[in-house]
Amino acid sequence: MIEIKNLSKFFSTENGDFAAINGINLRIEDGDIYGIIGMSGAGKSTLIRCINLLEKPSEGQILIDGLDITALEGRALLTLRRKIGMVFQRFNLLMQRTIRDNVAFPLEIAGVAKKQRLERVDELLEIVGLTSKAGSYPVQLSGGQQQRVSIARALANHPSLLLCDEPTSALDSLTTNSILKLLKDINHKLGVTIIIITHEIAVVEKICNKVAIIDESRIIEQGLVKDVISNP
Ligand code: ADP
Ligand code: ADP
Repeated sequence: MIEIKNLSKFFSTENGDFAAINGINLRIEDGDIYGIIGMSGAGKSTLIRCINLLEKPSEGQILIDGLDITALEGRALLTLRRKIGMVFQRFNLLMQRTIRDNVAFPLEIAGVAKKQRLERVDELLEIVGLTSKAGSYPVQLSGGQQQRVSIARALANHPSLLLCDEPTSALDSLTTNSILKLLKDINHKLGVTIIIITHEIAVVEKICNKVAIIDESRIIEQGLVKDVISNP
């Protein structure tokens, strides 16, 4: 379980301190597909960067199974970051590396031996349905296929949490549906908790069980999707 308590991030500007997120409280249970929805500039990226420990919050706590991860430093921080998979809007693949080597990259960094790496990459490519593309390069793949590669890469180190930042915003609607279905399968079959940041209500309606609406740095509503978003 992830509990976010009174989380704020302030940036100094010429006009004083400015809150990108302000007093955020969230509770994400294991197995949730939790949507965080809001307009551009609302604070979504800052929140996700705090959860991923890329940004240090100014105030508040992020408890994962009771452990405050904002207090972690050094090796403990690196180890925890490895347990959080990240999926980006623009895939962020390494263009000079094959699909196999892209997926293997986080395993290399984690120091996994070559034989185990290759075995794990095979498993991952099978999960995302891209076994036949192992030797291809990213430019040879469609946007949807590239996002599948980035999902495989995010799962490499067996994360318990997958953070998806606008994962379908660069994709057409048909491809969006297939990526959302893949994420739902991963949640269901691998038991990975998913947080999905989006500006599209349709994405939340399709796969999330819970949602929080963020507006001008604050959560203005949260709960079960069926309670928060009306479905005429
Ligand atoms: P979103 O992802 O919802 O578009 P962001 O978290 O990127 O929102 O940004 C929230 C607000 O915080 C925006 O007004 C943005 O300009 C500001 N902001 C984000 N990062 C920084 C930063 N490093 N320095 C100053 N302001 C920032
Ligand atoms: P996104 O499309 O994810 O919302 P943004 O364009 O808001 O991306 O931000 C891209 C990066 O720039 C983020 O790392 C964010 O923290 C940083 N950033 C956003 N706004 C500002 C700002 N006003 N000053 C400095 N950095 C910012």
